[in-house]
Amino acid sequence: MRLPDRVVLRDVSPRDGLQSEPVTLSTERKLELIDGLAHAGVSRIEAVSVVHPKLVPQLADAEAVMANLTRRAYCRYAVLVPNIKGAQRAVTMNPDEITVFLSASETHNWKNVHRSITDSLQELQTVCDMSRAHHVPPSAVIVASFGCPYEGEVPTSVVVDLAYRLFGMGVREITLGDTVGVANPKKVQAIFSQLRQDIPGLNLGGHFHDNRGTALVNMLAAIDVGITLFDTALGGIGGSPFSPGAGGNLATEDAVYMLEESGVATGINLEALLALGDRLEEWVGHPLPSRVRRARGRMVPVGPEGYVHD
Ligand code: ZN
Repeated sequence: MRLPDRVVLRDVSPRDGLQSEPVTLSTERKLELIDGLAHAGVSRIEAVSVVHPKLVPQLADAEAVMANLTRRAYCRYAVLVPNIKGAQRAVTMNPDEITVFLSASETHNWKNVHRSITDSLQELQTVCDMSRAHHVPPSAVIVASFGCPYEGEVPTSVVVDLAYRLFGMGVREITLGDTVGVANPKKVQAIFSQLRQDIPGLNLGGHFHDNRGTALVNMLAAIDVGITLFDTALGGIGGSPFSPGAGGNLATEDAVYMLEESGVATGINLEALLALGDRLEEWVGHPLPSRVRRARGRMVPVGPEGYVHD
């Protein structure tokens, strides 16, 4: 297995995570979550989205969150933008990144953003132009890249074609989303290997959901073919209100634990994540799915009497 020295984790819990929680956190708590992640060493955070407040009321305070961030120099704060209207809001928030997205499946795209893939591509072209005009690099996510809750199988050729089109718009970073957790290591390696070969100038990332317990192995499979950027969420919260059957994101704690124990640096402090997870668990009012959280981090041997967890 080929392991890199370092992997970058982009924590999406403030956006992807909180949008699927029935409770709406106050702006202060969102700021505490975002700054807690940065304090733990997370260098990229999807902080807010500018989706219409009627569709995702949990994230209606995007402007207030972005205006009151404690910006740390080593951390990039991203705004998720669904359309041109959203981009007009986003560029006023001084984000470090603008994340755009579309679906690899026509039906999912309609459910998600109420337009065809062709219309999405046109809209994204304008959004990307606006983003660059404000000196903010656009980063794209192709959701349902590995399968769709409505259409089932998604052909690799569709994902590659979309990646080409996004690359043609000047997008230099694309993350493939396994929105409903149906990816498997073989398919992950096939798609990423093909994209790396076909579009060499493209930086690629993976966004894996854990519905079927495969998120961590899918990440490892992607790492094995050279991918070093992944979306994760504190505690493993997340899903999508527009994707039936969507489960949690790969937990940041679980990814950090596995990578650091294998000698791959993430720059993220596991203990700080666990402490922040304690607060998040209280705020959302239910146990978080992270496995490492349940085990309370690393095991420390204490001799023949037994083991404790640090
Ligand atoms: Zn997700």
